[in-house]
Amino acid sequence: LLSPLESKTFPKYLRVNTLKISVDEAFQSLSAEYGADNVKRNKYLGDVLELPASVTDLYSQRLVRNGSVVQQGLSSCMPVHALEPLQKSWCLIDACSAPGNKTTQLAAHLAMASGGSNATGGRDQAAVGKIFAFDLDPNRFERLKKNVRHCGAGSIVLPELRDFLAVDHRKEKKFAAVKAILLDPSCSGSGTIHSRGDYLLGLKASDSSPQQSESDKRRVDTLASFQEKCLRHALNFPNVERVVYSTCSIHVRENETVVASVLAEAERLGFQLEKALPQWPRRGYPLFETCDKLVRVNPNKDKSDGFFLALFVRKQKTAGPR
Ligand code: SAM
Repeated sequence: LLSPLESKTFPKYLRVNTLKISVDEAFQSLSAEYGADNVKRNKYLGDVLELPASVTDLYSQRLVRNGSVVQQGLSSCMPVHALEPLQKSWCLIDACSAPGNKTTQLAAHLAMASGGSNATGGRDQAAVGKIFAFDLDPNRFERLKKNVRHCGAGSIVLPELRDFLAVDHRKEKKFAAVKAILLDPSCSGSGTIHSRGDYLLGLKASDSSPQQSESDKRRVDTLASFQEKCLRHALNFPNVERVVYSTCSIHVRENETVVASVLAEAERLGFQLEKALPQWPRRGYPLFETCDKLVRVNPNKDKSDGFFLALFVRKQKTAGPR
């Protein structure tokens, strides 16, 4: 695991908010400010730019302040890319959305799928779909709403303070139309310990290592049961075609094991695991046959927070949902 010092060697990732500015414009503007040699385009994700690790005070940078670019780790930008292709007018759910970095990125990608963005010249407002963005934590929900406004995503994102597990498409028909779900539920955050500075607080990054204490294990087990429930709930929306499950955990129990536990039900519902972000080299741990479809980010090797994601795509409807 990384020390806080090593995590400071991560590049500063900036996700371009294409609701406000194009990637080329942001690239040019940052190149003029920081020098052309210091701004790079990420080779996997088209809306992510990189500045050197030594750059500080980005909070006061003009494009950051006006919401044209968002400081967002590379790992955190992956689920929205994995959910693509999105289609014009789709209704989506961001199930556990606050503070909304992925939600606002999803809004930008949905706007693109609907024929452009504010930045690139007038999308057809009527054709842009909607994102139902849930969270049940009132404080985080306030941050979500603020973030949505700041990023200019207010006409696309519909924030609702509620429990995703209690969202019932049979009682509220608007949810029956949902075509894609981004599920980034609460997790142990073990992939981000170095960035959060828990080392400095004297806490151990327990990983799935032998030092993991019994109470850590119980906590991870409880989280994994919740994550499984959320994933089953997402897969049971009647018209959903694409579901991305992600965590910023490095524990197998919250990642490959959660996916393995829902695979039979997913297949019964007509889903298959699909190779997410096919160009990304680091794949899931080989716990079952199709683990190479899964994405892992190793903070020691990939210069971003530890992360995991899985993409389920519905190939056919074989049985009705619950
Ligand atoms: N996707 C967010 C982003 O990129 O900014 C981060 C989400 S964070 C990992 C998980 C969130 O899930 C927390 O904000 C938490 O309050 C929320 N949450 C936990 N249980 C939930 C539930 N049952 N329904 C909706 N949200 C939930």
